Amino acid sequence: TRPLEGKTALVTGGSRGVGAGIVARLAADGAKVAFTYTQAREQAEAVAAAAGAHPIQADSRHEQDIEAAVARTADRFDGLDILVNNAGVASFGPITDLKIDEIDEMLAINVRSAVIAIRAALAHLGDGGRIINIGSINADRTPFPGQSVYALTKGAVQSLTRGLARELAPRGITINNVQPGPIDTDANPADGPLAPSMLGVMATDRYGTAAEVGAFVAYLAGPGAAYITGASLNIDGGFTA
Ligand code: NDP
Repeated sequence: TRPLEGKTALVTGGSRGVGAGIVARLAADGAKVAFTYTQAREQAEAVAAAAGAHPIQADSRHEQDIEAAVARTADRFDGLDILVNNAGVASFGPITDLKIDEIDEMLAINVRSAVIAIRAALAHLGDGGRIINIGSINADRTPFPGQSVYALTKGAVQSLTRGLARELAPRGITINNVQPGPIDTDANPADGPLAPSMLGVMATDRYGTAAEVGAFVAYLAGPGAAYITGASLNIDGGFTA
């Protein structure tokens, strides 16, 4: 049997990039998977068809949308075992140049939405439950200027993960924070303008793939990872080496 057979999962932001890689891998490992998206309906439908997953249009900026997505997933699959908080946005620039709207949006999607999704999911998660947050290696290292507020949001994810590990361990639920380095997606293309400087500070001379992050998340979601909790775990090609 496959490692996640019988498990059910919700991934936020699964229509593209890292989230789509996570959806594909959780489904390949046997889980029933639902995922959210906002704009990219065609891509969401393609991901859903390829993985046999269930797409839900839900905007992580709005608590009603997040709570409804959790409830719909639990209804459809008769429970929820795995929550992956992946939806995230990045605006880079000197702190005085960032627009207040950009700052608010990073805080809302990268931090606030994870808190709300976790609160909603805890109505359903039981013994063996898994919460996996997608943070960023920028929480530990920000080698370039212009990343301060994005890094702040991912630092918040680290602290949230640590704090909740204490609260959730008595219920048999683990929570971990996966911190990717550069991963080839629309948000950070391997052939984009940032790539040469990123590669310049890494041990590995390439970007990572969404499938590689998906494999790591699937491991943390599985039965072998029951003793890992409260951890921030890097998958960064040696960005922090
Ligand atoms: P992409 O921009 O490629 O994809 C973002 C995904 O999130 C899309 O599925 C998008 O949906 C969804 N999304 C965006 N806004 C919302 C919203 N308001 N509500 C619901 N879903 C939303 O990003 P990545 O795949 O690169 O990043 C995914 C996560 O990984 C983020 O948390 C990011 O911070 C983190 N990360 C990425 C790294 C990288 O190098 N790529 C490095 C470190 C961390 P739609 O298609 O509908 O727009």
